[in-house]
Amino acid sequence: MDRVGIAFPDAHLDPEKMARLAATSHTEFGFDNVMPLFSVWHESAALGCRVDWGDSGRMPDGQSVCSSIDDPFRIPRDFLKEPGCAVPLKALQLLKKEVGSEVAVVGKVFGPWTLGYHVFGVEEFLISTLLNPDRVKQVMRQLLEVTVAFAEAQIEQGADALTLGDHCTRDLCSPNAYRDFLAEIHQELHERIPCPLILHICGDTSDRLKYIRETGVECFHFDSKVPAAEARRLAGDNLALMGGTSNIDVVLNGTPESIERDIAEKLKVGIDIIGPECAVPLDAPCENLKMIADAGKRL
Ligand SMILES: [Zn+2]
Repeated sequence: MDRVGIAFPDAHLDPEKMARLAATSHTEFGFDNVMPLFSVWHESAALGCRVDWGDSGRMPDGQSVCSSIDDPFRIPRDFLKEPGCAVPLKALQLLKKEVGSEVAVVGKVFGPWTLGYHVFGVEEFLISTLLNPDRVKQVMRQLLEVTVAFAEAQIEQGADALTLGDHCTRDLCSPNAYRDFLAEIHQELHERIPCPLILHICGDTSDRLKYIRETGVECFHFDSKVPAAEARRLAGDNLALMGGTSNIDVVLNGTPESIERDIAEKLKVGIDIIGPECAVPLDAPCENLKMIADAGKRL
């Protein structure tokens, strides 16, 4: 943000600024992909969540639309035209034109589990999975269409691949919740969205990787709470793996030696795509990001 003079909140709200800031991951650091959706709130803002878009030291945050899972919720008909969706769609188009011949242009959508947290509130949504699972399944079917429509629109604007964030994370729910509410839905998303999908779930996912690998998604973006070798073993032969590099130990506090050691370990156990485990901390040193990209190319 400092190097190019474009910061949050503008970078979430103006497509040219969003595209220029996203391009820096390639132009400043040498990563071979660019990704302009810096927050988890884009489509949720378009669904009616009130969002505070943060600033250069603070990630965005938002508020739910409904207070009860039983509240009637309707997807706004033109949600793709709302700024929350329209801005990143335009930014993807600009990035495709500007750097799309050199690097992968990656978009991002959220699945119906994360959208459920946003629309109904995390606590209300999770309690309802126990008290009113049928209603949860009903709203997830509704929200699934948001994920598919936003994904198709991003592909149309030039996205080569999409991150699918769906935070069915161990701190909040059991592996059975993944199996019973999400496995089928992620399988359907993989079937309906015509580009490679990178599923992202934070935290320790070792107890649900056996279900994730059956969904057919091309890649899983994993957290450093799963040791890389363990992730490789649990993912089997067909599921590609990305990430696993600790944001705290390596991205934020790494030294040239510890960064090189981490990347070498990831490559040795067969991690397919080098990168941080989750959203890069806003105070991460630029030199560390560049060293990660360099090590990925050199090793
Ligand atoms: Zn994450």
